[in-house]
Order: sequence, then C-alpha cells, then structure tokens
Amino acid sequence: MKISEIRVFQVDLPLVEGRYSWSEGKYVEVFDSTVVELVTDDGLSGYGEVCPLGPFYLPAFGPGARAGIAELSGSLIGQDPTAIGPINQLMDRALLGHPYVKSAIDMACWDLLGKVCGKSVCDLFGGKFGESVVLYRAISQRPAGEMAENIAGHRADGYTKFQLKVGGDPADDVERIHAAADVLTDGEILVADANTGWRVDDAIRVVNAVRDRDVYIEQPCRSYEHCVTVRRKTSLPFILDENITGIEALMRGHGDGAMDVINLKISKVGGLTKARQIRDLCVTLNLPMTIEDSWGGDIITAAIAHLAHSTPESLRFSATDFNSYVTVRNATGAPQRVAGQMQASGEPGLGIKPDMDVLGKPIAVFN
Ligand code: MG
Repeated sequence: MKISEIRVFQVDLPLVEGRYSWSEGKYVEVFDSTVVELVTDDGLSGYGEVCPLGPFYLPAFGPGARAGIAELSGSLIGQDPTAIGPINQLMDRALLGHPYVKSAIDMACWDLLGKVCGKSVCDLFGGKFGESVVLYRAISQRPAGEMAENIAGHRADGYTKFQLKVGGDPADDVERIHAAADVLTDGEILVADANTGWRVDDAIRVVNAVRDRDVYIEQPCRSYEHCVTVRRKTSLPFILDENITGIEALMRGHGDGAMDVINLKISKVGGLTKARQIRDLCVTLNLPMTIEDSWGGDIITAAIAHLAHSTPESLRFSATDFNSYVTVRNATGAPQRVAGQMQASGEPGLGIKPDMDVLGKPIAVFN
C-alpha cells in the first residue's frame, strides 16, 4: 500500500459559547482546523485533524499546519502509510520540529492501519479499559461568579471534573478558585489551570490563598524551572501541561518530582504514535494523565477517545470531548458525550466518516 494523494481541507469550528478565554487575555471564537486525507493506491482513505488553540497557545497555528503538510507531502507520496514507525522517522528527518504538523498525518496513518486490519485504533493500542472515559469540562475565564454558575450548567450535562481557566490577575484568580470550590459537590474534581499566565510571585500568592481548598494547580508559569519553584512551595496537587512536550521533558519532570499529573495533548507531542509512547511510559511510572489535544472537532475527539479508552482507568485523570464545544460536525461516527463520558468506537480505524459537505473542496492536493 502506498500513499498516492494527500488532500488538505480547512474547516472553521465556531465555539458554542461564543468565546473561549484563558490566561493573559487570550481568547478564540472560531477555531481554525485542518483535516488531512491520505489516499492510497488501493483506494482507501485515512483521515487526521489538527486544530491549534489559536496562534498563541503553543508554537502552532492553522496556516502553519497547512504549510507544514505541504512541505512534507513530497516525502510522503509513495510511502506505505501503515508502516507508521518509518513514516514518523521520515517526517522527523524531512522537517525538524513542528510536531503539530506531523500529528494529523500520523493520525491518518493509524486510521488507515485500522481499516487495513479491521481493528479500531483503540484495539491496536491494546484494547479498552472500562466501559467509558470520564471527561472534564474547561470553564472559560470569566468573572468568578459566572464561572461558578457555569459549573452548575456543565454538571447538568454529567461532568464531574472542572478545569477553571485562571492565569489572570492573581486576586481575581483567588476569587475564581474560591467561588468554584464553594459550589463543588462530593466527588467532583477542580483544577485551576493558569496556562503559563502567572509570574512566580503571583503563583505563590494564589497557592497560599487557596491552600485549604481541594484544587489541583496546573501549569502556573511559562518556564519549567518557575513551575518547579512554585511546586516546591505548595502542598496542592500539581499538573504540568505546556512544559510536557515529549519523553525527555516527562523524564526530567518525573525525576524532579515536578508534577503529580500530566496533560498529554496529541498534537503537542507529534501525533498518536508519540502520545502512545508517553502514555505507556506514564502507565509504567504510575503517573495519571489527562488525555486530549490542543483543540479539535469530531476527528480529533475520536482520536482522543481511542488513546484514552486504551489507558488504564486508574491512570486516566480525564479526557476531553472537543466536538461538544463547537457548532460544526466535521465527521460522523465520532464519540458523543453521554452523562459526562464518551466511548471509543469499535469500528475499524478511528471509526469516523468525514462530512465532505462540511469539509468542502480541498484547499490543496498533492500527488
Ligand atoms: Mg492545561
């Protein structure tokens, strides 16, 4: 089997609640998603998606994904997409860095491998643990009272884990965390995610002011060293996300005792292949994970479900159903949230069928 053609689609994904806001005044209203279709010489197609959280969350942006895929296309045409190890090595040799670009291609290769084998990606990743995957809901940054009210709305949809977007003014953030903690019920989990938005002194003030609340602190500062400084000064459980860019970062953090949980995003680390390596290492290290991506539509939600559902439940801190945050469906067959949980499809590959009316004409075709 060889890749004979690569088709690239661009899809806008507007947010259901209008605007998603997080640290330092950043926000996105319409997500710029890229879908890639790998067409093979025997007529099969595999699909992948990459959707950065705007151009200023990670070093990634929508047009960059498309430019990167164009750059890699010449190396990929004629290659066997089911030989996922060699495909990843080839991409890493042809283009240094740019993990998010490679993520959509790697995802499409797994979709194809599953279709060839008649197995779901979840089964290829070792099989399902449990009936379903428990999801968290991100609570967009708003005034404290509104964020606490929004928790109640999402609780009604079955969510039991809530991630507050903080990383703003420290006094406002203290108010946000207290307001949210006040409305939590038994068994619910609260995370305060600063998304690198605090200075060390801000972060220390916040963790001191909420030290008696049951809350996880996520990625307070931009640099790893600053996060470790904050970690040393708090007894609150601690999550690293933006700094966990790959296995070396994970090993360093583990050796330093820098975190209790990591946030594993598929495109941040370069695709499902590398995310699975990190997942498996975390299982060995007994380190819990939130399994997700930077953002996405139905195709990315399906990929998250396969990776998350094949992860032992005891180490699955949470996962994300991005397709419920946006108003556009770019594929059918993707997991749909039921009572705050989702399941990986048992269909071959990712188990999705792209909606070609929504994808429209490809913006680029390489062959
Ligand atoms: Mg985070």
